[in-house]
Amino acid sequence: MFAELDEPPLDPILGLAQLLAGDTSPDKVDLGIGIYHDDQGRAPVLDCVKAAERWLLETQPSKRYLSSSGNADYNAATRALLFGDGSDGFARSRTIQAPGGTGALRLASDLLRRLSPGGRIFIPGPTWPNHPAIFKATGHELVVYPYYDIETGKVRFDEMMATLGAMGAKDTLLLHGCCHNPTGADLDAAQWSAIADLVSKTGAAVMVDLAYLGLGDGLSEDAAGIRLLAERLPEFIVATSCSKNFALYRERVGALTVVGASETNAVRAHAHALPVARTLWSMPPDHGAAIVAHVLGDAELRRGWERELATMRDRINTMRNRLSARLAGHGDRDYGFIARQRGMFTMLGISPEGVETLRREHHVHLTSSGRVNVAGLNEGNVDRVADAIAAVGN
Ligand code: PMP
Repeated sequence: MFAELDEPPLDPILGLAQLLAGDTSPDKVDLGIGIYHDDQGRAPVLDCVKAAERWLLETQPSKRYLSSSGNADYNAATRALLFGDGSDGFARSRTIQAPGGTGALRLASDLLRRLSPGGRIFIPGPTWPNHPAIFKATGHELVVYPYYDIETGKVRFDEMMATLGAMGAKDTLLLHGCCHNPTGADLDAAQWSAIADLVSKTGAAVMVDLAYLGLGDGLSEDAAGIRLLAERLPEFIVATSCSKNFALYRERVGALTVVGASETNAVRAHAHALPVARTLWSMPPDHGAAIVAHVLGDAELRRGWERELATMRDRINTMRNRLSARLAGHGDRDYGFIARQRGMFTMLGISPEGVETLRREHHVHLTSSGRVNVAGLNEGNVDRVADAIAAVGN
């Protein structure tokens, strides 16, 4: 069975890590892999996480199984973060813990296949490459809707809406809740509202991927889109991740939240998700979720987390401003969009050849798509990176 197998194509992200490791220049800059780096280029464990881990080590009485739904405190804290404690959205929702945002999306994909067989999933072009891979793995037919204008750095909203007009009642619309990956271009309040109107008309389902909550403009600001949907739509689902906002990447902390027209409906949808999770991973890993539940439930640790999150967010936005300003000095193109976008990523339209030149001649590493991880910039490299991007052109 194995001897006949072809050499598989190199995973693009792993390939990137190899190229980075092989670059011996002291000036090399990693703008490829999607993790947050501090101003010293490190990706440290958050202080609030360390404190919660110490607490867990001292106090955890047992490692016995929980349930397919995972850590109940983490699940309740997730709903509170999304919709606000005691809100209508909080009451009408239920959360099931999943291994990372990826696990949550896979669970959602399987669930949609059962609840809406034959429905298509409308995904933005471009989107996180794992989106199509996950949905295809579950047998979904995909439709790509226009999303990003590479020239202006804005959302192609009119074209997007025209394509979404073709959605039927069995279809699902995938939206990024904030900090769109890979473009950084987000929907504004009026656009969320227009989308809510459209899906109300078409009867399509909505799935929001919220992997960067708190890294755009703030915790409640970044939840504005899903809070608007909660006011306007009877039902939708949200996949969340604590990989970035708690820097818990390898601990695999995510969740799928179902919002129903009533609490009873949400409880029922949650009950239908449980057997799906049971066949995928039976139980999600607890360690990271227990950390998040403790941090969010302890007033002092929570304040600490919000401070650490604000530090990450402010640094990203400062680097956006610095990159945009420095590039502006280089020519005619208006790079103001970099400063206006949010989250870790932007797309400047750098060709694969340009990406290659940046790596070989300037030791600046990007994914071949030309996605720039702004969180890899710092005071020590931002000007040099801007100059390199300008030199390579688009
Ligand atoms: N959705 C998006 C848009 C992402 O960028 C990511 C992480 N790169 C995820 C989901 C999943 O994150 P994880 O599985 O690591 O929690």
